[in-house]
Amino acid sequence: MIKKLFKRVFGKAARTKMEGRCHIIPFEVHGVSRDGISPAARRVTGGLQAAGYKAFVVGGAVRDLLLERHPKDFDIATDATPEDVRRVFRRSRIIGRRFRLVHVMFGEETVETSTFRRMIEAEDAQTDEHGRLLRDNEFGDQEQDAARRDFTANALFYDPASQEIYDYHNGYADIRANTLRMIGDPAVRYREDPVRMLRAVRLSAKLGMRLDAATAAPIAGMKELLGNVPQARLLDEMLKLLLSGHAVECVKKLRAMDLHHGLLPMLDVILEQPLGEKFVMLALENTDQRIREEKSTSPAFLFAALLWHEVLADWKKLQDAGEKPVAALHKAMDDVLGRQQVQLAIPRRYDAIMKELWLLQPRFEQRGGQRPIRLLAQPRFRAAYDFLLLRCESGEANEELGLWWDEFQDASEQRRAEMLLPDEAPKKRRRRKKSSAEAKPEAVQIVLPIE
Ligand code: ATP
Ligand code: MG
Repeated sequence: MIKKLFKRVFGKAARTKMEGRCHIIPFEVHGVSRDGISPAARRVTGGLQAAGYKAFVVGGAVRDLLLERHPKDFDIATDATPEDVRRVFRRSRIIGRRFRLVHVMFGEETVETSTFRRMIEAEDAQTDEHGRLLRDNEFGDQEQDAARRDFTANALFYDPASQEIYDYHNGYADIRANTLRMIGDPAVRYREDPVRMLRAVRLSAKLGMRLDAATAAPIAGMKELLGNVPQARLLDEMLKLLLSGHAVECVKKLRAMDLHHGLLPMLDVILEQPLGEKFVMLALENTDQRIREEKSTSPAFLFAALLWHEVLADWKKLQDAGEKPVAALHKAMDDVLGRQQVQLAIPRRYDAIMKELWLLQPRFEQRGGQRPIRLLAQPRFRAAYDFLLLRCESGEANEELGLWWDEFQDASEQRRAEMLLPDEAPKKRRRRKKSSAEAKPEAVQIVLPIE
C-alpha cells in the first residue's frame, strides 16, 4: 500500500512538469478526468480560456475529486476581472461588496467565479489588535491566489481543457498521504483568521484526513481568538459543521481540542448532564444519518435539540418556584433563546420553529379526547414526533409514549378509538373557565401558534 502510494506520488514525478514554483501534474498521474466537472463549470473555464484568460476549477472541488468524493459545487478562479467575466457571459451578475465575485448562470446551475486574489503583505495589512486580517481583497496572480488559501489540499487548480492540476504547495502529495496541512506558518494563519481552526476540525472530520501535527499544534494555545470573530461568521461555520454529515465526529474533535467553549456556550453545560449529552449526540447522529440519506434537515430542528435540555432545566426550575406549567414553559423558552441570542446569535428567524417544536412536546402526553387527532393535524407534527423519538431514545421521555404515537398515527379509526386514554382534563378546564372569564389558559394546546 505504502509502496504503491510512493510509486504514485514519486514514481511518475518525472512526468510532472515544473513551471516556476508550480508542479503541473498530468492526468496520467492524478487520474481526474474532466467528466467529473459539471458541464456549467466546464463552460465557464472554456469560455474564459477562449477569450484569452486563465481559468481553473479550484479549491474544495479539486480536493474532493482527488479523494473520490462528490464535490458540492465547482468554484472557478481566473485572471479575468469581474467586469471581464461579465463581458464573456451575458447571463452573469457581480455579487459581494467586500470581494466581488461573479455568478455565471447556466440553466439551473450557478458557477461562482472569482478573480485571483493575493494576501495583503504584513506591512500594509489591516488587522485588528489580535492580528486578524480585516481586508484580503486585492487582486493577485495565480501563485498568490494559491498562497492565500488555507490548506495545501484546498489550493489546487484543475484545468478541464488539459486535465492538468497546478500545485504550488504540494497539496497533491498531501492528499495522497491523507494529510490536511496549513499553507505557511499555521500560527500566523490562525491569527489572520481564527475560523481556520474550525475549518481544520470540520474538514479533517468530514474528509477523514489526518491533521498534520504542526497544523494541529498551535490550536490549543490560540482558541481564545475565536472570541474576536464576528458572530454571524461563527454561526455560519457552526452550521457548516453541524450540517456536514459528520457532526458527531466534528463535535467529538472540538471537545478533544477543547474548542467547543464559546461556540455553543450551552453545549458545555448540556454535555455535562448525562441525559443532555445522550440527547445531543443522538440528535447529531440523526442529522448525520439524514444528510447521508439526502433527506432534508433543518437548522431549527438541530438548534431546538441542542437547547432542549436547557429549556427542560429552566422549565422545571420555574415550576418548582410555583409557576404554572404553560407559563413556565414559555418563560423558559424565552430565557434560553435570549441567552443564546447574546452568545451565539442564533438568528431570530429560527425562533418560531424551535418554539413550536418545544411547545408541541407536552402535547404528546395528552392522549384523551380529540387532542391527539388535533395534534396529528399540526403542520409541524412530523418534526415534533421525530423530536419526541429522540427524547424517548435518550431516556428522557417514556419509551411507551413513542410507541403509542407510532401506532396511533397509522391506526384505523376504530383502533384509534380503542387507544385513546380516559379524558379528564377538558372537564377541569371548563370548570376553571366558568369561574373566571380572564383565567390564563392552562393547557398547552391553547397557547400554540397553530391550532
Ligand atoms: P466545502 O466542501 O465544505 O465547501 P471548501 O474547502 O470548498 O469545503 P469553502 O468554504 O467552499 O470550503 O471555500 C472554498 C475555498 O476557499 C477553500 O477550498 C479554500 O481554498 C478557500 N478558503 C475558504 N475559507 C478560507 C479561509 N478561512 N482561509 C483561507 N482560505 C479559505
Ligand atoms: Mg466549497
